[in-house]
Amino acid sequence: MSNSALLLKNGSKIAIIGGGPGGSFFAHFASRYAKEAGIDVSIKIYDRKSFCQRGPRGCNMCAGVISENLFNSLEEERINIADFCVQRKIEGYCFQAQDESVVLHHPVPGHISKIVTVFRGNGPLQSEHEGNVSFDDYLLNHVKEQGVEIVFDIVKSFKLPFRKGDPVKVISGDGNPKNEFDADLVVGAFGVNTGMMEKVGNMDFGYKPPKTVRTCQCEIMLSPEHIEKTFGNNVFVFALGKRELKFASITPKADYVTVNLVGRRDLTRKNLIDFLKHPAVKKLMPEKWEIPNDFCMCISKIPITYAKHPYADRLVVLGDASISRSYKSGIESAFNMAKLSAYTAFKNGVSARSFMNGYFKPAKRLLARDNFYGIVMLKINDYISSNRQLANRQVKLVKSTEDTKTASLINEILWNMLTGNVTYKEILIKAMNLRLILKTLPFHPLIWIRKKGGIFSNAK
Ligand SMILES: Cc1cc2nc3c(=O)[nH]c(=O)nc-3n(C[C@H](O)[C@H](O)[C@H](O)COP(=O)(O)OP(=O)(O)OC[C@H]3O[C@@H](n4cnc5c(N)ncnc54)[C@H](O)[C@@H]3O)c2cc1C
Repeated sequence: MSNSALLLKNGSKIAIIGGGPGGSFFAHFASRYAKEAGIDVSIKIYDRKSFCQRGPRGCNMCAGVISENLFNSLEEERINIADFCVQRKIEGYCFQAQDESVVLHHPVPGHISKIVTVFRGNGPLQSEHEGNVSFDDYLLNHVKEQGVEIVFDIVKSFKLPFRKGDPVKVISGDGNPKNEFDADLVVGAFGVNTGMMEKVGNMDFGYKPPKTVRTCQCEIMLSPEHIEKTFGNNVFVFALGKRELKFASITPKADYVTVNLVGRRDLTRKNLIDFLKHPAVKKLMPEKWEIPNDFCMCISKIPITYAKHPYADRLVVLGDASISRSYKSGIESAFNMAKLSAYTAFKNGVSARSFMNGYFKPAKRLLARDNFYGIVMLKINDYISSNRQLANRQVKLVKSTEDTKTASLINEILWNMLTGNVTYKEILIKAMNLRLILKTLPFHPLIWIRKKGGIFSNAK
């Protein structure tokens, strides 16, 4: 069989498993590159969920912060997030240590940030708004307008072909007999909260899913006035000395705030309740506020490593189920990887070799290497955040009006860590500043060395 059998051509069929950002972005780029190549392909997205539903059933469970880089990339692709999806425009990040807090701003003075918050589904379970505010549904509708077909059904499995030129058989639906569809390319954009990941891992082409941890989130309804007054347009990030937490944040929406906890290990509802009871968190809630008996809550997984071999002839896996930036801007990673893999499929073909060279190797260069620097930065951040004295000192330094140089350097490092605006490597290089390290220590090293000397001299 010639290699041309593994090229997309007029009449080729693409099946995308998953209608989250990874799936919609792939469909967007596939439509664009097909048009540019002058070929007519049909594209189907399968998703078991309808994002018109409220609560976890219609939601891809995340904090819903759209990074500035992604916002700009979407604008370049003429995907302008509709106003009805935007819950709040974010201007700053409030870094809350145990006793002190400070609002961080974009390092370039006067720069107007383009970070926005959204709901992935149609809002929390108890919300009463009219219409559909879902960001994921908005993206699906965008690709529907490009001619992509949306199939609200579950994909049960797919069978890779034995012979090189044959299509992949996609089997969908709960009924009997199941629906079968022959695809020239299957895109696995199924995320990490699905049994599909293990099913594909059990196929024998070498895919190993990323490792994951369970995170915990909830939506708290508050009055818009209270949110405006207390949170304003700031995402709150907490360093409360809780060793089990890697990251804790409260993201303001219009009449809800989204609480997000990511741990070193799997988290449970108990971690969420402990967090909500912390005095620094209670202080942000209205007077006499009690944790509601019933609130929209979910436990969702986040990838902490990347997948192995997320490709085969006529198959590519992307988004969370493949490779993404550690703990940051997962939707932006899904966008970048969808673009890279769709470009590869249309320019170089849909063979395993094309995806390895055109998609996965560059993806690893871009993300996996940077994630290594990310691990170092996150460890430093964990160390500072879990130490009351260090975290408070960090906040005091950013607030300092005497040493403005150090203040703006720490502001910049923290801003970039929290927003994911620049690579972890760039952040680490900035942080390796001797003056900054000496300043961040809660004691002056020279005094400490002198003291040590004193101890030794006393011992003599
Ligand atoms: C606690 C937490 C907070 C986060 N906060 C942010 C944030 O603020 N900003 C940000 O950019 N990222 C954030 N992320 C990451 C972000 O949610 C993911 O990176 C992003 O959703 C990945 O997109 P995806 O399309 O790969 O997967 P998903 O969004 O998970 O989409 C997968 C889709 O596939 C469908 N599916 C699965 N199996 C099947 C099947 N067999 N048949 C049919 N359909 C199927 C699912 O229903 C789902 O719709 C956060 C993640 C977590 C856990």
